[in-house]
Amino acid sequence: MEITIWELCICIAGRLGEEDNFFNILPGGIYMENKLILDGNAVANAVKDDLKERIIALKDNGITPCLATILVGDDPSSATYVKMKGNACAKLGMESRKIHLSKETTTEQLLETITSLNEDSDVHGILLQHPVPSHIDERAAFEAIAIEKDVDGVTSFGYGQTALGFGKYPSCTPAAIMKIMDYYGIKASGKHAVVVGRSPILGKPVSALLLNEDATVTTCHSRTVNLADHVRQADIIIAAVGKPNFIQGDWVKPGAVILDAGYNKGNIGDVDYHACLEKASAITPVPGGVGPVTISMLLKHTVDSAERVMKK
Ligand code: NAP
Repeated sequence: MEITIWELCICIAGRLGEEDNFFNILPGGIYMENKLILDGNAVANAVKDDLKERIIALKDNGITPCLATILVGDDPSSATYVKMKGNACAKLGMESRKIHLSKETTTEQLLETITSLNEDSDVHGILLQHPVPSHIDERAAFEAIAIEKDVDGVTSFGYGQTALGFGKYPSCTPAAIMKIMDYYGIKASGKHAVVVGRSPILGKPVSALLLNEDATVTTCHSRTVNLADHVRQADIIIAAVGKPNFIQGDWVKPGAVILDAGYNKGNIGDVDYHACLEKASAITPVPGGVGPVTISMLLKHTVDSAERVMKK
C-alpha cells in the first residue's frame, strides 16, 4: 500500500498528539513541503472570535441574534447540517429556531411558514435547508424569504445584489471561499480563476465575487468542452461540482491555488487531494477546509442582520 507524505505526517502527528509542533508553522498558516494548507478551522475560529463581542453588545441592547432553519422531510444529511448550524449558534450564545416540517408539506404551507418568519421581529436570518422534496417549488420558497433575512443569498434579489457588488449577504459557501482567500492574503486581482460548477448557490455567485475582485473568471459546467484544458489555465481553481476526486492532478498548473467546496459521501472533496497537492501552491483540505468557514459565514450574516435591526 502506498502512503503519501501527508498521510504519514497526520499519522505521526496524531500519535504524538502535537500536530502544531510537528508541522513547520509560518506566518499565514501551515506549510507542508512549501505547500500552504488553507486551514478552514483556523479561518472559521477567527470569524467566530470576531463575532463574540458583537453578540454581547447586541444582547446588552436586548437583541439575541436568531437564525431560523427550516428542514422539510427526513433526509439524514440535511438533518445533520441543520443540527450543526443550531449547535454552532448555541456555542456562540446565539439563538436558533428549528422548524421541522413533514415531507408531505406543500409549497403553500412552506410559503406560509416563511412568511411568518419574515414577520417575526425576533428572527434575523432564515435558512431553508435544501434540497427540499421534489414536489415543492424550491425557487418560489427561496424567493419568499425577505431580503433583509436572506442570510444565505438564495433570493434572486440577493444574488443580483451580490453580482452587482453590493450584496450584504452573498451565499455562505462563496463568501467562505472569499474569506479564506482574504485570511491568507491570496489576491484574486489579475488572476485567472476557473470555477468548475455553476449552481445558483455556489458556482455562479463565487464567479461573481471573484469577478468583483478583478479576477478574470471562467465558469465551467457539464457542457464545457475540453474542461481539463480550461482548468490548466487557472491560477485559482474553485471546485464546485459535487463529484468525488473529480479535479485531477494533471489538470493543475504548477503553483495554482485550489479551493475545494465539494463535500461528498465519506468526507471526500471534489478535488483529487493528494495528486493536486503535488502541483498546487495552496489548497483546502476536505474536511476542514471550506465547510467550517461556510457555517461561520452564516453566523456572521445573521449577526450582521441583527445589528442592522439594532441600528434602525
Ligand atoms: P449542483 O447544484 O449539483 O451543481 C453542480 C455543478 O457542477 C453544476 O453546475 C454542473 O453543471 C457541474 N458539473 C456536473 N458535472 C460536471 C462535469 N462532468 N464537468 C463539469 N461540470 C460539471 O451542486 P452544488 O450545490 O453547487 O454543490 C457542489 C459541491 O459543493 C457538492 O459537493 C456539495 O456537497 C458542495 N457544497 C459544499 C458546501 C460547503 O459548505 N462546503 C455548500 C454547498 C455545496 P450543469 O450546471 O451543467 O449541470
